[in-house]
Amino acid sequence: MSSDQIQYQSPINSQTPITHDATLPDSVDVVIIGGGIAGISTAFELALKGTRVLVCEKGRVACEQSSRNWGWIRQTGRDADELPLMIESIEIWKSLAQKTGENELAFNQQGVLYLAGNEQEEAEHDEFMKLAREHNLDSVLLDKQQVKEKLPLARKPYLSGLWTPSDGRAEPWYAVPALARAASRKGALIKENCAVRTIETTNNKVSSVVTEHGEVKTNRVLLAAGAWTSQMARSLGLYLPQLAVKSCVARLQPEQELFSGNLADDKLALAQRMDGGYTMALSSYHQHTINADSFRYLWPFRQGAIKKFSATEFKFRQQPNYPGNWTLPKPGKNADAAVRDKISVYEKNRVLDPQVEPAVVERMLQRLNNQFDQCENARVTHAWAGMIETTPDFVPVLDRSQQTDGLFIATGFSGHGFGIGPAAGRVMADLIRGDAPGHDLQRFRLNRFTDGSKLQLGPI
Ligand SMILES: Cc1cc2nc3c(=O)[nH]c(=O)nc-3n(C[C@H](O)[C@H](O)[C@H](O)COP(=O)(O)OP(=O)(O)OC[C@H]3O[C@@H](n4cnc5c(N)ncnc54)[C@H](O)[C@@H]3O)c2cc1C
Repeated sequence: MSSDQIQYQSPINSQTPITHDATLPDSVDVVIIGGGIAGISTAFELALKGTRVLVCEKGRVACEQSSRNWGWIRQTGRDADELPLMIESIEIWKSLAQKTGENELAFNQQGVLYLAGNEQEEAEHDEFMKLAREHNLDSVLLDKQQVKEKLPLARKPYLSGLWTPSDGRAEPWYAVPALARAASRKGALIKENCAVRTIETTNNKVSSVVTEHGEVKTNRVLLAAGAWTSQMARSLGLYLPQLAVKSCVARLQPEQELFSGNLADDKLALAQRMDGGYTMALSSYHQHTINADSFRYLWPFRQGAIKKFSATEFKFRQQPNYPGNWTLPKPGKNADAAVRDKISVYEKNRVLDPQVEPAVVERMLQRLNNQFDQCENARVTHAWAGMIETTPDFVPVLDRSQQTDGLFIATGFSGHGFGIGPAAGRVMADLIRGDAPGHDLQRFRLNRFTDGSKLQLGPI
């Protein structure tokens, strides 16, 4: 096994020439802040319906989480309220190649297998099966022998497995740029290297966005800024508790077929890529750097989520470019001339590219070897990290602001927004257009953090 000569870099190289450089219009129907899967999917859906939409992305399309994830598109283990959206999302993924005319999504349905090594995990899988039956999912429980047959090289004697064949995967750094190209062909304007400095309001109504390249008038804005959303929402007086957690990923060279599909136990997750190699991660290991947001949002996170943070390593050394950092300049206040004209925190942090510690990659390789035979020669070629934005209850916010007319929010996907992204985009496009979203979005309302209701925790 080897971690020598690893390239520590993200799959999307921020140095490559920008692809989308639309001329900023004076006005549009909708401005979307953030060119991740949430923003781009919404733009695609809006453009299909003829809405004039502009996406402003401070770096490159999908430069943050949306290109750095494992690519899983899973229903398995989903929260009960998220599952209907996720089921719709799978249907959208299935139709995307044809709908977009793009072949580069690298989408397949090779299934997701959750392995149980103890009784508690088995009980969680039993619980999910009730939900799966309710929704006619193809999930099944595999016994010890069936797991062994699927994983002939496994060293660990797993008790059982939860297997959903219709789950799948797409290649994130192909899929989201491909969707952006399709949105652009349908008329969406996309501008990379275009940070939004502030959102202007008049009488509590959205009136424009101020970007580093000028102002664009609009009365509807979607805030889909990933790990930066809470900070931007705060500048408008909105309370949106969110913490940033770092997660690391490694790319294994194709050498040995371990499993055809995607699997995870409590230690390691593997996702098979189109080239036969695997994208690998420690399944439940994250890092959170204690910062101003850790204290600002301590109360909602204390309500329960913190108990689920047992797999999180806390760091104290400040990283100057992380969201929530003490030293980051305060986000702009509406209609403040100094904010409009000054280089913002978002331009200073074009691409959030957290560092991967080589020790974490070593740990992945060790676990791989503990778990499977014949991995002695496994070789990691690339490693990178992404910053997940998590809410206190691990489900997203998909809502319109009650406080600011014309402001919409899609964020807080808590580490599972890639798979659900296309359905989130469809729902947000309908909300923005004033159409019925087709799902009960009550659970995903913004004011659940302030209306006194007890937060209901979703699975991580
Ligand atoms: C290591 C890792 C593994 C993961 N694995 C999976 C998985 O297997 N399956 C899954 O479903 N999910 C997974 N996720 C989660 C998934 O990647 C995210 O939930 C999803 O990509 C979030 O998309 P987004 O569009 O909301 O945010 P992002 O992709 O973070 O996009 C937000 C964008 O907004 C831009 N932005 C921010 N502020 C501004 C501003 N002021 N002006 C202009 N632009 C701005 C940012 O530059 C960024 O590009 C994983 C995440 C990580 C990090």
